[in-house]
Amino acid sequence: MTNTNCLEGIRCPQCGQENRFKITALITCVVTDSGSEPVGDHDWDDESGTQCPECGFTGKLKGFRKRNRLPPDPDNMNSSRADWAAVALRAFMERTGADQEDALGDLLGDLMHWADRNNFDFDMALDRARWHYEAETGGERHS
Ligand SMILES: [Zn+2]
Repeated sequence: MTNTNCLEGIRCPQCGQENRFKITALITCVVTDSGSEPVGDHDWDDESGTQCPECGFTGKLKGFRKRNRLPPDPDNMNSSRADWAAVALRAFMERTGADQEDALGDLLGDLMHWADRNNFDFDMALDRARWHYEAETGGERHS
């Protein structure tokens, strides 16, 4: 079922479920020496910590927003390609503790260091990756 209210546009980027999430919300409490009582509403936003209770994926809520428009997928393989990349990204996040927001950029930077130390030309690999991406999204190579 498509969410149309509190969870509209929200999906776990790791397992894809859309039904329930743990979101850290801000509430106001009346606090006395004997305890606390929530008052009024509670609220959250795109920066709020969010966890998928199904797979444990954790990040900011904005990382759970579905990207609305995907580029063309002529051979219908791009979701699989993204899943393969997610395996590497997850392993990197587990090893480094990078959160979802930082992981992609950090991984690319660390791959530059890896290329330096293993005699690979990172820019050439990036050009090749862009060429593949453009072909896989039905675009034309701009040279
Ligand atoms: Zn999940």
